[in-house]
Amino acid sequence: MVYDLIVVGGGPAGSTCARRAAQLGLEVLVLEKEKHPRRKACGGGLTLRINDALDLDFTQVVERELCGQRFYYSSGKSKTYLQPDLGGYTVRREDFDHFLLQKATEAGATVQQGARVTDVTEELNQVVVVAGKESYSAKLVVGADGPNSTVARKTGLKTRWDDNEIALCIEAAVPMDPSEILRIVGDPAGSERITLEFYIGFLPKGYAWAFAKKNEFSFGIGALVTAVSSLKVYWRKFVTSFEERNGVKCNLVGQTAARIPVRGIIEKPYSNRIMLIGDAGGFVKSNTGEGIPYAVESGKIAADVAVDIIAEVPKVNTMTYFNRAWNSMGQDLITPHPLFLDESQ
Ligand SMILES: Cc1cc2nc3c(=O)[nH]c(=O)nc-3n(C[C@H](O)[C@H](O)[C@H](O)COP(=O)(O)OP(=O)(O)OC[C@H]3O[C@@H](n4cnc5c(N)ncnc54)[C@H](O)[C@@H]3O)c2cc1C
Repeated sequence: MVYDLIVVGGGPAGSTCARRAAQLGLEVLVLEKEKHPRRKACGGGLTLRINDALDLDFTQVVERELCGQRFYYSSGKSKTYLQPDLGGYTVRREDFDHFLLQKATEAGATVQQGARVTDVTEELNQVVVVAGKESYSAKLVVGADGPNSTVARKTGLKTRWDDNEIALCIEAAVPMDPSEILRIVGDPAGSERITLEFYIGFLPKGYAWAFAKKNEFSFGIGALVTAVSSLKVYWRKFVTSFEERNGVKCNLVGQTAARIPVRGIIEKPYSNRIMLIGDAGGFVKSNTGEGIPYAVESGKIAADVAVDIIAEVPKVNTMTYFNRAWNSMGQDLITPHPLFLDESQ
């Protein structure tokens, strides 16, 4: 069988693309290497941009609503910005991603989990994708397989990230009693909402964060690869300072390292039959590393373009995807306050 579309990767970008393409009538196969729910290194902070990007009610996987942000500076000062209206959400990526992948299945996409793609070959009339001992064919392939994208590497669209294009992060969950969480980051006005905490200026070209969920924090730290030789030293300092400031002992669970592209959309996230979306295509905001709403949005655009290509709508091709994605997000991703970026760039 030749699928209309194979989506490699079932994160927010891939699930959204698969769901929309299936809703619009395409035969879609998703190949996802993990079995969901799976842990993903992420703060799980969502700005309100997600409401426009995601055409789904995801209330059931929201952990906390936001009432603002607090910044701690290396000078010892801090500043809190509160807002009267809803400021965003936090989610656990285990639940959020699982929910989105289920929605793709419900829409009619075939989802194969535990299927790690190892090879992708673009031919004249189809693309052949290898996962384990199986090989699959499709008219189009979307690479939604994150910053270490096999699709990008195998098709030559992005063979490696330069050190000044990528931030290295450490992330861990820190289980905590909800009453302690509200004591530390709760809304001063007494609602159940929380502030996101950012720690700025403690390390070059990066920052640390503490984002609260219902029963845990996500602690993280990230910096441009070229800026920091030992992220672990800063990580330990950050955890210790959080413990001392708040009079708590932090138990770090599932500590892991991960990368975030921080240079905006890559030069050419498409070829004749391939489109790269989400982190695979560099759809991440350069100052904060925020990527989820952009992953979702790029997935939607790629799905719409795939539908038109399959329907042979005149003048629509994979470059249409790039043009639409660039017009909608390109400029927004490169910010005037390049926290992760090298000042000399
Ligand atoms: C530490 C950290 C903290 C972050 N915090 C935030 C935050 O608070 N808010 C925010 O908006 N963004 C945050 N981001 C960025 C955000 O996580 C990404 O932008 C987002 O996950 C991108 O979604 P995606 O679907 O493109 O990729 P991913 O979420 O990485 O999903 C890719 C999927 O592809 C699968 N896959 C990979 N390789 C293969 C293969 N060969 N075959 C089959 N499947 C494969 C993976 O298992 C995964 O499920 C953070 C990133 C990091 C690293």
